[in-house]
Amino acid sequence: MDPLYGKTYLPRKFKIGFVIPPMNDMDIFTNCLGFIAIVENDQLIGYNLAVGGGMGRSHGNVQTYPRLADVIGFFTPDKLVDVAKAVLTIHRDFGDRTDRKHARLKYVVAERGVKFMQDEVNKRAGITLAPMKPYQFTTTADLLDWRKGVDGKWFLGLFVETGRVKNAQKIALREVAEKFPHIEFRLSANQNVILANASDADKTAINAVFAAHGVKTENQASIMRAAGMACPSLPTCGLGLAESERMLPAMIDRIEKLAGEVGLTNEEIIIRSTGCPNGCARPYMAELAFVGKAPGRYQVWLGGNASGTRLNRVWKDVIKEAELETELRPVLVRFVKERNAGERFGDWCDRVFLNEQKINN
Ligand code: SF4
Repeated sequence: MDPLYGKTYLPRKFKIGFVIPPMNDMDIFTNCLGFIAIVENDQLIGYNLAVGGGMGRSHGNVQTYPRLADVIGFFTPDKLVDVAKAVLTIHRDFGDRTDRKHARLKYVVAERGVKFMQDEVNKRAGITLAPMKPYQFTTTADLLDWRKGVDGKWFLGLFVETGRVKNAQKIALREVAEKFPHIEFRLSANQNVILANASDADKTAINAVFAAHGVKTENQASIMRAAGMACPSLPTCGLGLAESERMLPAMIDRIEKLAGEVGLTNEEIIIRSTGCPNGCARPYMAELAFVGKAPGRYQVWLGGNASGTRLNRVWKDVIKEAELETELRPVLVRFVKERNAGERFGDWCDRVFLNEQKINN
């Protein structure tokens, strides 16, 4: 470590996530440091360690790129803090301090390799990472509507469109917070809100509050809308090159209409948008993503999957927002004709469509 930088100062931000398979609701591979809980016979036996994920990139700069974390081994729960500290200090000691765009752990992992990371983690944490344990993810989505947890308490997954609590939903949430101080409010990595720790009586009373304000707690959004996510971009974020949060709801309206016209009703396509390539809404994991380039113009990415284990790829370097239907209709028509039984849009794009495209990023 260079003494110039002290013991704690990091080159740049550092993101940490935990997931419990089969849910990948934190998009674990997009984090610098990820812990994948391994549960056997209802007992946590340890974690698979994922390192070096991240979304941010810059238009036209191939030195910057989205990257999935590598799973580099397994360790037991008693070593959690030691392992976290080991990975954090690897970022501190090897992260690039000369170039802000290169100052993320993902580039350390990409350039120095998995073996380097395993050796450093072992040395710093005083452990020997075991081979990773098998696991499988099925979804990156939140559990919406009312559900009963293993503790016997209810929780409500409340869809928040583009992560913006407003209007009747805002008023109802405030009333719930005031009337039910023991209810926990948790913000999800999918921009939704979870109200936890509810008894049977709470559930009934909370439903009444939402109903009084006309807010649904069941079937809250169409399947495509519920899967969407947008970064704030304009006017909140000064880095936005194009609209995102304010654009996506209408964009999903248009895509749902288009999908219906080509025979894709009630089809989930994970759609995400960001106002710039920094990727705050994790667009590079989506089946269909819009990344802002200029007002009304977006780079379009296709081919992510439902489990959050595959990066998508650029399809169009730029499309005009107004030309969405013209651009997308032929792709959806082909998807309907060519998909395998049950095949998702992102999987078909990755398997067939993108491999035929000549793409200039
Ligand atoms: S992705 Fe969106 S929120 Fe993130 S920096 Fe870009 S415009 Fe801002």
